Amino acid sequence: MIKRKNKKNDTQSVEPRYPGIQTAMDGSAAVVEMETAGGEAAGAYPITPSTQMGEGWAAARAAGKLNVNGRPLLFFEPEGEHAAAAVTAGMSMTGLRATNFSSGQGIAYMHESLYAAVGKRLTYVLNVAARAMTKHALNVHAGHDDYHAVDDTGFFQLFAKDVQGIADLNLIAHRIAELALNPGLVAQDGFLTSHVIETLRLPERELIREYLGDPADMIESPTPAQKLTFGDTRRRIPEMFDLDYPALLGPVQNQDSYMQGVAAQRPFYFDHVEALTDQAMREFEELTGRKYERATGYRLDDAEWVLVGQGSLVSNAEAVADYLREERGLKVGVLDVTMFRPFPADRITKLLRGKKGVTVLERTDQPLAVDNPLLREIRAAMAKAVETGRANGGHAPHPGLPSIDASDVPEFYSAGFGFGSRDLQPADLVLAVENMLPEGIGQRFYYLGIDFIREGTNLPKLEIWQEKLLDAYPDLAGKALIPERDINLLPKDAITLRIHSVGGWGAITTGKNVVLTSHELCGYHVKANPKYGSEKKGQPTTFYGILSHEPVRLNGELQSVNVVLSPDPNVFGNSNPLAGLEPGGVFVIQSERSPEELWASFSPAARQLIRERNIRVFGLDAFKIASEEASDPELRYRMQGTAFLGAFFRASPVMEREELDEKTLFEGIREQIQKKFGHLGERVVEDNVRVIRRGFDEMYEVEIPEETVVGSEVMAEAAVGAIPTLMDHPNQLPGIGNQGRFWEQVCSLCGIDQDVIADPFAAISAIPAATSAVRDMSDIRFEVPDFIASKCTGCSQCWTQCPDAAIPGVVNSVEDIILSAIRTAQNGASLDRIQSVSGNLAREARKVLKAVPFTTFGDTVSTAYKNLVEKLPWDAERKKALDEEFAAVYSVLADFPLAKTVPFFDVQESKEKGAGGLLSITVNPEACKGCNICVDVCADGALVTAHQTDELLDQLRRNWVMWENLPDTPDRFINIRSIEEGIGVLPSLLLKKENYRTMAGGDGACRGCRR
Ligand code: SF4
Ligand code: SF4
Repeated sequence: MIKRKNKKNDTQSVEPRYPGIQTAMDGSAAVVEMETAGGEAAGAYPITPSTQMGEGWAAARAAGKLNVNGRPLLFFEPEGEHAAAAVTAGMSMTGLRATNFSSGQGIAYMHESLYAAVGKRLTYVLNVAARAMTKHALNVHAGHDDYHAVDDTGFFQLFAKDVQGIADLNLIAHRIAELALNPGLVAQDGFLTSHVIETLRLPERELIREYLGDPADMIESPTPAQKLTFGDTRRRIPEMFDLDYPALLGPVQNQDSYMQGVAAQRPFYFDHVEALTDQAMREFEELTGRKYERATGYRLDDAEWVLVGQGSLVSNAEAVADYLREERGLKVGVLDVTMFRPFPADRITKLLRGKKGVTVLERTDQPLAVDNPLLREIRAAMAKAVETGRANGGHAPHPGLPSIDASDVPEFYSAGFGFGSRDLQPADLVLAVENMLPEGIGQRFYYLGIDFIREGTNLPKLEIWQEKLLDAYPDLAGKALIPERDINLLPKDAITLRIHSVGGWGAITTGKNVVLTSHELCGYHVKANPKYGSEKKGQPTTFYGILSHEPVRLNGELQSVNVVLSPDPNVFGNSNPLAGLEPGGVFVIQSERSPEELWASFSPAARQLIRERNIRVFGLDAFKIASEEASDPELRYRMQGTAFLGAFFRASPVMEREELDEKTLFEGIREQIQKKFGHLGERVVEDNVRVIRRGFDEMYEVEIPEETVVGSEVMAEAAVGAIPTLMDHPNQLPGIGNQGRFWEQVCSLCGIDQDVIADPFAAISAIPAATSAVRDMSDIRFEVPDFIASKCTGCSQCWTQCPDAAIPGVVNSVEDIILSAIRTAQNGASLDRIQSVSGNLAREARKVLKAVPFTTFGDTVSTAYKNLVEKLPWDAERKKALDEEFAAVYSVLADFPLAKTVPFFDVQESKEKGAGGLLSITVNPEACKGCNICVDVCADGALVTAHQTDELLDQLRRNWVMWENLPDTPDRFINIRSIEEGIGVLPSLLLKKENYRTMAGGDGACRGCRR
């Protein structure tokens, strides 16, 4: 509902003609909806996080969607962003309403083409999901580096603060571009808007048809320069490249001509963009009731302290301004710089004149500039307004800018925040305001959301390191402002959800379905976003969702939640799922255990917290449900998350608060699933609905028993782990390649869920070799390969094809194997007796290997020991002591995977007696991701898939200790490479531990999507 003044100056409510259609979607989908309705042609190359926009366009095109003018969509994906810019320019030159989608390095790569698009007065719109640029490290998340990389190209630049904004500004951008004959860029924060689901009023197709019109329409030329060039009327999107009316654009020009063209662009084209933007925004408001301005103030009229920013920060800042006004009486306002080019100097100088303090928050850093880009422009604008003020009524040096007295220029402060989507909390913004107050510390430049010095750390090595840093840089602590406590600014009725899962397990889809179903069934305003890194492969994934009947403005990570779903059964191993869980909250975790076993599996600290906060705990064996219900076994992991959707509605307060019955709920769920998966066929829809239903029905509550937890049990959890052996070498050189330093400053902090500090090594971000040994996939996989020794032929397929180098093959003599088993079993105890007969035992074992059909080496050594003992002339007491020692050694060898194979044993023995070796095929329990490739390639059936139990994991770990104790494969086995012997060069080389160890880290592919 908007208010419009009538002629008599009183107000009345006027319903806009196009109020929009209430719905919920993310920023990428909103752009796709707008572009595929209004646009005609797209040239784009995929790059995170704008990929979904191009994919959405391509999908619409493939589905035969027509735009509002009844035309099919064109799509061209060239070989990179530079070419995509050229393709889009070409589309635009032929009079098509064209678009491009890009981010980050993609923008940098196309940069030089953008100047040319401006110079040709093209009209296309570049949609950007703004992303950090690769500096010291690659980051695919939000940053304004790419946005500011085009500041000098002549594109006009808009920035949306939310999903509503990106839908609306996309249309406004096309309108400006086509009025001004100037290409434009419209940005949203990568992930933080592009992937955040929000409620919005989606512009209607009728609005788009009326507001943008048909590119082929003849319109009145909007400016004198255009009238002089094109005539009184022109095509809405001029066909600059027309075979029937040929002209060359972009020729070579020398000293005599070039400058005139550059200079002429300013008065005849660029100087019109500002007024035409105001026109486009005004027209949009008249049709929709939604008001946009080049710079938009929020509670600025009486504000003394102002937060300035662009993008998703703005809504957060507005919520903080309301909070500080209501709770502390501070007059705080917010300035949203909706348009950066042309810079809205006229509006910003008016809006900021006379304010006491202004903090400009920027999601980019340009340390060698006098200021970061937004503040730089604001200061320049204020300085020009002061020059106008100094003219004192004489000739105004800067027409259009207000006259400002120097004393009306606010104090400016600059804050860097959110680089690469670093989380920003309301408390950070409160601190930014407090910094400006008379009693504040008045820091002129600082960072938010990180720390250079971690006050009060109890980690001795970090303390020592910080002391060194402070000796050299005494002011370091003040470079970042750190709030002391969190502030919850969510709506009072908000239901908040956090999902902990694993990349590829379908949790993001589940989260989206939860919020979209809730939105459609209950009319909730929603905000939901995933948090994951680009490393994929079984890495923890978090999803946040907020449901409320009030609009939700905050989009940071949730510090307090009502419901936690954990499809990841091992979540406690990589994070704390109970963090921020409200008293009386709900925790649902994947579990195949009984309620009692599940409770017992939690750590003492977790149990204590659950009791203290009165948290309700539920278990759900969603993996079993998915395994039983998925028609395609490939979908098991992805569908496991789906069952949690049913669990959410059963456990959360939604059904009770909204008085939803099961029938209505499941009708809504089916509708949502149909929308999401309908294109994959009815079977997929039915599979999903059944899984959700079972998730709803089969979730069980854990009765919380009374028990006492002693403090030491709780404290024990915060300990830093031991450095992995692969990284633990003596006499390492200091510096960027030092593994020990990296362990102390990075790995050990991450291991106890702390971030690293900003230090000189962080500035370079070098990672020493083999630190991937820190990664442990034990808790991520459900299955592991199990070895059947009697079937192994030594074909080498497993150890050469495992993408993670997680199943090394090593060949050792029987003597070495027995000695290694003794070393492994020793564990501080004396095994002198068995040691003294180890040679004899090996000889006996070799005889057994030749005489008896092979089953396992455990059986072999057991028989050999019996034979040996019979021959030993020892008394009963000595034999009894020997039995005990052998039992320890046998326990190491009983289930250790060793095979007697033709190439390594029989062939070698035939050449030289005693030369044969046994092949060990040992799973590295930390590296194996459970992909089953080794099982698939083992034609002899010597590897089978086993469900990983605690006992099996324990066995794998014990086997790995034995493997570590085995000597490397002797060279005589490495030389085997004849076809008959079945072992080639690569498999032979990989039998060497020293070669195998160079491949720490694995393939990095996601187990779920295999990318
Ligand atoms: S376990 Fe299978 S794949 Fe591996 S060496 Fe033995 S037979 Fe070949
Ligand atoms: S299951 Fe996959 S990762 Fe594990 S050892 Fe086999 S091939 Fe390697």
